[in-house]
Amino acid sequence: MASQDTEWSPSSWRTKPIKQVVTYTNSAAVSSALAKLSNLPPIVTPTEIIKLKRSLRDAALGKAFLLQGGDCAELFSYCADAPIDAKVKLLLQMSLVLIWGSNKPVIRIGRMAGQFAKPRSSPTEVVNGKEIPSFRGDILNGFDPEEREPDPDRLVAAYFHSATTLNYVRAQLGSGFADLHNPMDWELGHVRDQELQAKYERIVHSISDSLRFMRTVGADTAGQLQTVDLYTSHEGLVLEYEQNLTRRLKHPPGYRPATPSADGKGWYNTSAHFLWIGDRTRQVDGAHVEYFRGIENPIGIKVGPSMGSDELVRLLDIVNPSKEVGKVTLITRYGADKVEAMLGPHIEAVKGSGHVVVWQCDPMHGNTRTTATGIKTREFSSIFSELSSALKVHKQHGSFLGGMHLELTGEAVTECTGGSVELGDEDLSLNYTSYCDPRLNEKQALELAFLVAGHYRE
Ligand code: PEP
Ligand code: MN
Repeated sequence: MASQDTEWSPSSWRTKPIKQVVTYTNSAAVSSALAKLSNLPPIVTPTEIIKLKRSLRDAALGKAFLLQGGDCAELFSYCADAPIDAKVKLLLQMSLVLIWGSNKPVIRIGRMAGQFAKPRSSPTEVVNGKEIPSFRGDILNGFDPEEREPDPDRLVAAYFHSATTLNYVRAQLGSGFADLHNPMDWELGHVRDQELQAKYERIVHSISDSLRFMRTVGADTAGQLQTVDLYTSHEGLVLEYEQNLTRRLKHPPGYRPATPSADGKGWYNTSAHFLWIGDRTRQVDGAHVEYFRGIENPIGIKVGPSMGSDELVRLLDIVNPSKEVGKVTLITRYGADKVEAMLGPHIEAVKGSGHVVVWQCDPMHGNTRTTATGIKTREFSSIFSELSSALKVHKQHGSFLGGMHLELTGEAVTECTGGSVELGDEDLSLNYTSYCDPRLNEKQALELAFLVAGHYRE
């Protein structure tokens, strides 16, 4: 029977074949961790989730742009004020640049407050001549070779680190961290490149001018310039965790769900506003797709080079049978050398199906390379090349790019090569701190925002 014809429940994924399965040795400890999770309060609420879904509808219709970014693998140790501030500040700066460039509202989603699980190509790796389980993210095991056995207590620790991170983000935003009346508080000191700094200052001045005008004419009566929305997201990989944070909750007022219920309630994943299915776990008959088809949240699907057009449409039909506009974000990540050949047919297939999605480009995951000395990196020009090709192909097909999905950090890391910082392969070891994929540093990420903004202004 096709999966969409069967009854869904938060645990129905357990009847399906699963990839990236987790095998714990202590089942009593797993049960107690899951029982604990199922009793803890939601981290996010239906009102916030639906607000994001409404904004994503705008992105699907070309009226907004989605900026999503953060670490490849968030670690529990990143739950500290400095790295959180740096990341939020970077996302805010990038969003201002993109608003300026695209003339559209920008929806901000952090890959944060829960991005603790990583799919791996191999379940084991050899460290110091010994084969041990691969690091699968702080929610499952530790990077330290002594901590590679999956530990169920980490499921609960993931909840608390997510909640603490989001609590701090909310508190900072509520305390004027993103107050657009004070754009000059955003410190440009870290932008060392003089030209880039001058460019950014010009934009900040132009924004300040607009804000001054709005204040003068009394346009900011709702206080909308004092803060911004920042949503959270992660890959929905560890389904035991997601299931236990999936709650039957009242729909927010005015929301018309695709499948109305007599009790006015629906199933919300309350661990994050937005979740996505990774490229390794998107099998149409698999456990992850089964779980995702039942939640009210807006969702993403990674679309890599192995995705067939028919398969893509089948996936959309399963997770979004009512064809709700903007419910699904397709996160394309083909690689700079494949995007021109692959994106067009996918755009046409989706158009033909009647689905209206947010097309988001992830220019990171198809552009990973290994240096001569064995370091995993990504070249800035390949990243920008995939983005600009995506912009071009969408235009050719009468479609539009609705957003970008980046691996970035607010720290001055040396993990990706190129950009105006001109990092070479030999510089990578200076400050390479990622435990998983290489991230754009703060300068490279901001520069990418400028380049994309420039594309819109051309
Ligand atoms: C990721 O986004 O970190 C990831 C693993 O991506 P993908 O599923 O596209 O490979
Ligand atoms: Mn990654």
